[in-house]
Amino acid sequence: MHVFGLLGNPVGHSLSPPMHEAAYDELELDARYVTFEPDRDALEAAVDGAQALGITGLNVTIPFKQDALACDAVAVDEMATRIGAVNTIDFTGERVTGHNTDATGALRALRDHDVAFEGARAVVVGAGGAGRAISFGLADAGATVEIANRTEATAHELADEVPNATGHGLEALESLLADADVLVNATSVGMEEDATPVPAEALHGDLTVMDAVYRPLETRLLRDAAAVGATTVDGAWMLLYQGVEALELWTGESAPVGAMNEALRARL
Ligand code: NAP
Repeated sequence: MHVFGLLGNPVGHSLSPPMHEAAYDELELDARYVTFEPDRDALEAAVDGAQALGITGLNVTIPFKQDALACDAVAVDEMATRIGAVNTIDFTGERVTGHNTDATGALRALRDHDVAFEGARAVVVGAGGAGRAISFGLADAGATVEIANRTEATAHELADEVPNATGHGLEALESLLADADVLVNATSVGMEEDATPVPAEALHGDLTVMDAVYRPLETRLLRDAAAVGATTVDGAWMLLYQGVEALELWTGESAPVGAMNEALRARL
């Protein structure tokens, strides 16, 4: 039997177990997905223990995503190093490897909604963990990336690292969006309250708008975007595809996306 799991603290409300176990059923894979809550200072021991116990793969979430970069046992790939966070550890190879599937997951969610990246003008709101992953992903795929953040200095710092990117404060959003193709909200705004970081007047029907927030699924930003005829992509798509990418990394098989999506959405 394969054991997969999630390292985080807390992990009680995670949607990963039902999403991954739906995939094992569909693939007829003898496997379980278990959540683990090690102490904050026990990550290194947890990874060593997982390796010793023969665990196949682990997802990593708050507060361990950044700490996992410094785990001695984990060889971190280039993308996760640039993003500055590991969300997937793979124990199946000769070396234990660390990856970040938030970037590839976000891109796959957008591609699924017919977004072409080469030459696209993308605006990313937020420069935290999600904003970093999405900005690197979009830039690597060929888009020009405008990063707008509440703390403008953080947007400039990130833009200095990301190819073809420029940093801004939130007040630039209106002019940035006028000729943009893609908008991604990578802030937590919209999660706790019915709020949006983007003025509704700045949205238009030629945009594809993705929200990383997935609770609620229909955020105010996505409602505003739908009202002007923009294509909307809710946060569950990104969550789904980061899981899909992890599963494919661990198993080398194509993930049953439909079954995973159904299991995820049944719980949102
Ligand atoms: P984070 O590292 O804490 O970054 C938070 C970001 O939100 C920062 O850019 C911060 O700006 C901005 N922000 C916070 N409050 C704000 C406000 N009131 N007005 C304007 N900007 C504000 O968090 P994260 O890990 O990137 O996560 C961000 C969101 O993405 C969360 O809702 C998370 O659940 C979601 N997420 C979803 C997925 C998915 O798979 N769907 C994956 C990862 C994250 P400052 O720099 O100015 O503080």
